[in-house]
Amino acid sequence: MVVIMKPKTKEEDIETVISYIRDMGLDVMVNKGVNYTVLGLLGDTSRVDPDTLMLNVHVDRVMRIEEPFKKVSRKFHPENTVIKIGEAEFGKKNTFSVIAGPCSVESDAQVKETAEAVKKSGAKLLRGGAFKPRTSPYSFQGLELRGIEILKAAREETGLPIVTEIMSPYMVEEFERDVDIIQVGARNMQNFDLLKELGKCSKPILLKRGLSSTIEEWLMSAEYILAGGNQNVILCERGIRTFETYTRNTLDLSAIPAVKKLSHLPVIVDPSHSAGMSWMVEPLSMAAMAVGADGLIVEVHNCPEKALCDGAQSLNPKQFEDLMNKLRTMGKNIGINV
Ligand code: PEP
Ligand code: MN
Repeated sequence: MVVIMKPKTKEEDIETVISYIRDMGLDVMVNKGVNYTVLGLLGDTSRVDPDTLMLNVHVDRVMRIEEPFKKVSRKFHPENTVIKIGEAEFGKKNTFSVIAGPCSVESDAQVKETAEAVKKSGAKLLRGGAFKPRTSPYSFQGLELRGIEILKAAREETGLPIVTEIMSPYMVEEFERDVDIIQVGARNMQNFDLLKELGKCSKPILLKRGLSSTIEEWLMSAEYILAGGNQNVILCERGIRTFETYTRNTLDLSAIPAVKKLSHLPVIVDPSHSAGMSWMVEPLSMAAMAVGADGLIVEVHNCPEKALCDGAQSLNPKQFEDLMNKLRTMGKNIGINV
């Protein structure tokens, strides 16, 4: 971080700023130019608030040099983090793993049928929401703990590890015991109490990007989990809010190469919540592979017309089979294993 003092600042006023910085445990390198004096802050500046420094009337500008995230940064961890669960390896070079299943767990039969179908087509993990973050309190809220039991039975039967969303920091123990990847939904990306609890947890976390979050905010949320001790975070781009209303969200494909450059963590794409329409899932999935995503999380329902949640964006088993075949063909052409 550098602090630029206003031109003609008196020596004693510069000294006041220098002592303020030293009191925070940092060293200061002073560079005097013809007009400006520039103070270089040396040490861990992650706790320094540039806005507080700006309160001093003699300070002209404060500029960060380092990103505010450290543990998620590729600069300090150049190798990809690879997260292996079952047959999936998120973050492994030239490998694309697909998570699939219904938006919500609705019944034993629905999950069983869908799980068998997605497994047959090549999904490596089964998804399904048991605790649902719904906009309306009158919409189906999920089967909660009973839903997790249904997912566990499907895991038992198919061998597919299970992914499901957590909403409360008080449920981490149960999720850690029962679930293979714990999903943090877009609406909870900045539920910091939840992120802190998940930092202490031994299971991998699937961290979705918030509805209107910047890439930096998203990575800072991942930083919370890593800072707590849990190094296994898979990021998920699921579309962001823009002025466009044709699609449910706008899939930010550019976030994939950006995150890959900034961070060593794996990143996957959710084409279902991005588009909100099942017919758009295939082209967006192929685009995700083309821009370097490590995989997908796709909504598949044994009968989308009857789904209690997100039926319009869910693929039926045949559509999912077609999608997987397309992805395998595309993968073969560009050297990616699906
Ligand atoms: C979901 O995966 O079912 C979900 C609610 O997604 P998001 O948090 O991305 O809206
Ligand atoms: Mn959904």
